[in-house]
Amino acid sequence: MGKIYNDEESSLDFVKGKKIVVLGYGNQGRAWALNLRDSGLNVIVGLERKGNSWILAEKDGFEPKYINDAVKDADILIFLLPDMVQREVWEKSIMKNMKEGADMVFAHGFNIHYKLILPPKTSDVYMIAPKGPGNKVREYFEKGGGVPALIAVHQDISGNALNKALAIAKGIGATRPGVIETTFKEETETDLFGEQVILVGGISELMKNSFATLVSKGYQPEVAYFETINEMKMIVDLIYEKGLSGMLRAVSDTAKYGGITVGKDIIDEEVRKRMEKALTRIQNGEFANEWIEEYQRGMKTVKSNLNEVDNSLEEKIGKRLRDLILKGSPK
Ligand code: NDP
Ligand code: MG
Ligand code: MG
Repeated sequence: MGKIYNDEESSLDFVKGKKIVVLGYGNQGRAWALNLRDSGLNVIVGLERKGNSWILAEKDGFEPKYINDAVKDADILIFLLPDMVQREVWEKSIMKNMKEGADMVFAHGFNIHYKLILPPKTSDVYMIAPKGPGNKVREYFEKGGGVPALIAVHQDISGNALNKALAIAKGIGATRPGVIETTFKEETETDLFGEQVILVGGISELMKNSFATLVSKGYQPEVAYFETINEMKMIVDLIYEKGLSGMLRAVSDTAKYGGITVGKDIIDEEVRKRMEKALTRIQNGEFANEWIEEYQRGMKTVKSNLNEVDNSLEEKIGKRLRDLILKGSPK
């Protein structure tokens, strides 16, 4: 069982008064910068360009600085730029300008684990990976809670890297529910596996294929949408609150029996073998290389697939139904 740290086992003292630069002001960047500032820490927002983030950070009361300037006297650099952008910005603006010995902090292990960024041997390198999107990191914090996170230490020069990881985790609210210690390797590989096999990939394909099966056999797309896409949230909410066994107990006996028997037939040994193949491609770096190439070619595959989803029947039906559904859901 992994070690879980709570709020009392962490102290902000390890990072208090240090100059913390949050690099990027997007999903995670904005939430982290605001939460760390509200926790009484010294936060500067570092950006590469005067775009939307710059305007938003100013609106939120920060005075953003260009990254090459912001990192000069910073003690802690938090990398919250998109994973594929981090190496470019590292090479162009950070590597030659950062103070020797400054901490390098990540929210995902990708760049360190796959060696896209090689940190200097003088820096502490650690990670706080929130297990939820940035808007939730901010929203839960404001309500007195926090999104749980994984923490890991890659390089500990000072002997205090874990304490500093816990301090930053506390500053964003993650120690309120608790943080679990992991490694950069474990976080990176499980995160990629999760998003590919289930969270983003697997679940969408299950929805799309079950929707298409019903529609192709003549059922109304609206009815199919409710059944194969919309109700997913209610089932997932049950699992979130009560676990798989609680969900099974909450559905009808007919759903229990059908779900248990047919589910195993749909997601069978062959699917499991393909899950293992996806994991192997993550472990041996094949996926990372493929993704870097895709990014460098202008993300053509991502764009064309997004376009396909935008123009799909389920999206057209979904747009029509979501307004009705949202009207009925509690505020
Ligand atoms: P975002 O995509 O939201 O980052 C956007 C920020 O990066 C903006 O400030 C944007 O500035 C800037 N940016 C984007 N492209 C460039 C570029 N080419 N050059 C310079 N600046 C650029 O990132 P996330 O918050 O999603 O991810 C940050 C890190 O957090 C990643 O390591 C990710 O894996 C990790 N993470 C993300 C989670 C999530 O839910 N999103 C969950 C857990 C971890 P501008 O406005 O000028 O475009
Ligand atoms: Mg993830
Ligand atoms: Mg991820």
